[in-house]
Order: sequence, then C-alpha cells, then structure tokens
Amino acid sequence: MTAAHAGDCLFCRIVRKEIAAKILFENERILAFEDIRPRAPVHVLVIPKDHVASLNEAPEGAEALLGEILLRARALAREKGVGESGYRIVLNTARDSGQEVFHIHFHILGGRRLLWPPG
Ligand code: AMP
Ligand code: ZN
Repeated sequence: MTAAHAGDCLFCRIVRKEIAAKILFENERILAFEDIRPRAPVHVLVIPKDHVASLNEAPEGAEALLGEILLRARALAREKGVGESGYRIVLNTARDSGQEVFHIHFHILGGRRLLWPPG
C-alpha cells in the first residue's frame, strides 16, 4: 500500500515471520492471524502485508486491497463458525479509537454477544 515494510513495526515483523503468530490465512497481499490477547472467543486480525500505519494513511488506489481484506474477514468469520451467529469487524483508527499498533489491521470479533455501542 505504501512504502517498504517498516523495520521496527510489530506487524511487519509478523509478516516477515520474525515474530511468531498463529497464521490462519496468507496470500501475496494479506495475512490473517489470531490476536494474542483475544477479547472474544473468536478474535482474528487481518492486515495488508505492506506497511500502512492506519486508515488515515491508506492511499488512493487502496480500494481493491481494502475490499479484499474485508471479504477475507467474512470468509474467516465463516471458517471460525460465526458467520451466521454474527461477528464484528473493527478498524481502530488513531488516538481516540484506542489504536495501539500502527500497522492497519481489521479485527474480527465473534463467538459471544457483543455490546453496542462499544465503550
Ligand atoms: P489495536 O488496539 O486496534 O491497535 O489492536 C492491536 C491488537 O494487536 C490488540 O488486540 C493486541 O492484542 C494485538 N496484538 C499485539 N501484539 C500482538 C502479537 N504479537 N500477535 C498477535 N496480536 C497482537
Ligand atoms: Zn508495519
């Protein structure tokens, strides 16, 4: 999406397999893995392999990649068995959202009743 993989970025390091993760899906463009601190029975992260800090930094032209991530999240939700019971896709962006890792990532949360609105 943007420049090279950032050397000190946690999720870039997972992409490069320098840090272990429980990988559920991978292709040339995207990677999906289990969240290390699950907030629900199903908690998966889906990321683009190329570094981009957040949705705010996603460039024009990223439509296809972002759409692919969203549809892959749907497929993963189905594979995890929550496609019908329900799930939430979360894209935390910048300070007030609580974003902690500045490599864009879509959360898939499911397997329990999720509160609305979120805190
Ligand atoms: P956010 O608050 O939206 O930036 O979410 C960051 C997510 O990354 C949190 O849910 C963390 O539990 C998760 N996380 C942090 N480090 C790792 C890791 N090494 N492997 C998998 N997930 C991680
Ligand atoms: Zn990164």
